[in-house]
Amino acid sequence: MITHAEANRLYGGSVEQGHTFLFNLNESYIIDGNQGGNSARWINHSCTPNCRAEVHVNIDGDTRRDRVIIVTLRDIAPGEELTYNYGIVLEVPHTPRLKRLWACRCGTPRCSGTLLQPRARRRAGAA
Ligand SMILES: [Zn+2]
Repeated sequence: MITHAEANRLYGGSVEQGHTFLFNLNESYIIDGNQGGNSARWINHSCTPNCRAEVHVNIDGDTRRDRVIIVTLRDIAPGEELTYNYGIVLEVPHTPRLKRLWACRCGTPRCSGTLLQPRARRRAGAA
């Protein structure tokens, strides 16, 4: 795990790389799959995933002990690839060029063509 400040220092330009091994764990830490880690780092994105990633918050409030759990969304056939939606939202506008840079090649019928997810719309009256 690394802090957000360390992630910015190490990978600040990663918005232009079109791929990432970083997983935003909580407000304090990011899991850096570039440094060791386990085989979960190889789970690909899909626009029609068969899993989802959940952050399980430590009951004692210790943010270093929060965990990412991969949960299946349906029965998985033997040998079937596990996928989840990375849910990537960049801090910069999602231009057509960036969408191409973060291209999705999941090949599912509902593929959006990009790993970048629509930004949450602000509620009426939100600051
Ligand atoms: Zn896709």
